[in-house]
Amino acid sequence: MVNPEPAARRALPSVDRLLSSTAFSAFISRYGRALTTETIRELLQVQREKLAQNASAFDFDEGHFVAACDAALTKYTQPSLRPVFNLTGTVLHTNLGRALMPQSVADAVMTAMTRPVNLEFDLGGGARGERDTHVEKWITKLAGGEGAVVVNNNAAAVYLVLNTLGAQRTKREVIVSRGELIEIGGAFRIPDIMKRAGVKLVEVGTTNRTHLKDFAEAITPHTAAIMKVHTSNYVVQGFTASAPEAELAALAHEHGIPYIVDLGSGMLVNLEDYGLPHEPTPREALANGADLVTFSGDKLLGGPQAGLLVGKKDLIARIRKNPMKRALRVDKMTLAALDALLRLYTNPDKLREEVTTIRLLTRTRADIRVQAERVLPHVQNAVAGKGEARIVETGSQIGSGSLPVDSLPSAGIAISPIGKSKSSFADKLSLAFRALPVPVIGHIKDGAFVLDIRCLEHEAEFITQLTQLQFK
Ligand SMILES: *Cc1c(COP(=O)(O)O)cnc(C)c1O
Repeated sequence: MVNPEPAARRALPSVDRLLSSTAFSAFISRYGRALTTETIRELLQVQREKLAQNASAFDFDEGHFVAACDAALTKYTQPSLRPVFNLTGTVLHTNLGRALMPQSVADAVMTAMTRPVNLEFDLGGGARGERDTHVEKWITKLAGGEGAVVVNNNAAAVYLVLNTLGAQRTKREVIVSRGELIEIGGAFRIPDIMKRAGVKLVEVGTTNRTHLKDFAEAITPHTAAIMKVHTSNYVVQGFTASAPEAELAALAHEHGIPYIVDLGSGMLVNLEDYGLPHEPTPREALANGADLVTFSGDKLLGGPQAGLLVGKKDLIARIRKNPMKRALRVDKMTLAALDALLRLYTNPDKLREEVTTIRLLTRTRADIRVQAERVLPHVQNAVAGKGEARIVETGSQIGSGSLPVDSLPSAGIAISPIGKSKSSFADKLSLAFRALPVPVIGHIKDGAFVLDIRCLEHEAEFITQLTQLQFK
């Protein structure tokens, strides 16, 4: 074999020569010298290999080379976290970032990001303040309770409650019904969290039926709490029984122990007022006698990722003193977002307009259908000759483990293959939609690729980029 190196050296420009050219000076100033040099080296190596394969047909085109470097650098430096179109039909999609926030909330976050703020500074006294006070007033006003704490997410909130209760020398047992030993996606399992939090799980009852007396019989001098977990992502149906919450709370209080409730999603308003299925609220749980309630910030509430704890003053004070609170605390951006979002909840009549999640959840099928029909011709054009697009009725999911069996009447566009159905059609089409500049995420059903239109915002952008769909 002939060594291609000498020929390559003659046919290809040197790295230094390229770096000093006008085109590459621009890349250096945009991307930095190191990354530009690395890219040149990598792409020159590709050229060298081509030369080695077929020297007689090799022709180095510097213009093409500059364009290839430009494309490689652009691709390499594009943000990893990118906007997408969530047309999956699941509104609070955990893998797509859950709740979307209104502009007013984003503006508040922007201020907190770019300017000094009184995060832990009491402007009246000039002394050190407590970061949670910025939202405590709103949480207790809207959810009830005497005090509130905010942490990184609801998993952290549950952990912190249990870890605080488990810090007592002789009382470490927490009683939970066997029907509520849930697993939430991403490996959050009640038994595992309890172990890590340093409490001993005492399971009572059976999967389908747990009675008040099961709890009563399990109480010992070592009991630290009775816990209720909202079975957010599944339902137990048929021959079932659970102890009424008010009775559970009364039982706990007779024995001088707290009754704690993990609500999961939790919502500050009655969703039935918005035509949606009922979801338990922290206010209801507190009214039933709960001493502490935990819920998520980015599920139905429609805010940033956070875990909200609300309840009795003494328990909240103990939780604040737990050193783990420091490890699980939220940053100023989260507090700014929560502060701005919770203030919107003071006017329930405007929630539908102002809280993005509620607006999307409450869209009617008729309204979604009108939008689907407006978009349909553009989708038909994009898949012309290969697929057939038509309007279909769909059922959206709330998502994030909220109300798993209720689906919201929605409308979408289903694209099926023309002629003989090929099993790979929907997979290929789904890949093509994901490859668009703003990736479009749909779902596959019965061999068709389906776009649920409920969450289609930025409609003009969606339509414009459809002309770039590459689908064979
Ligand atoms: C979702 C959920 C959690 C976890 O909440 P994150 O905010 O996702 O950490 C915990 N418990 C229940 C019942 C849930 O539904």
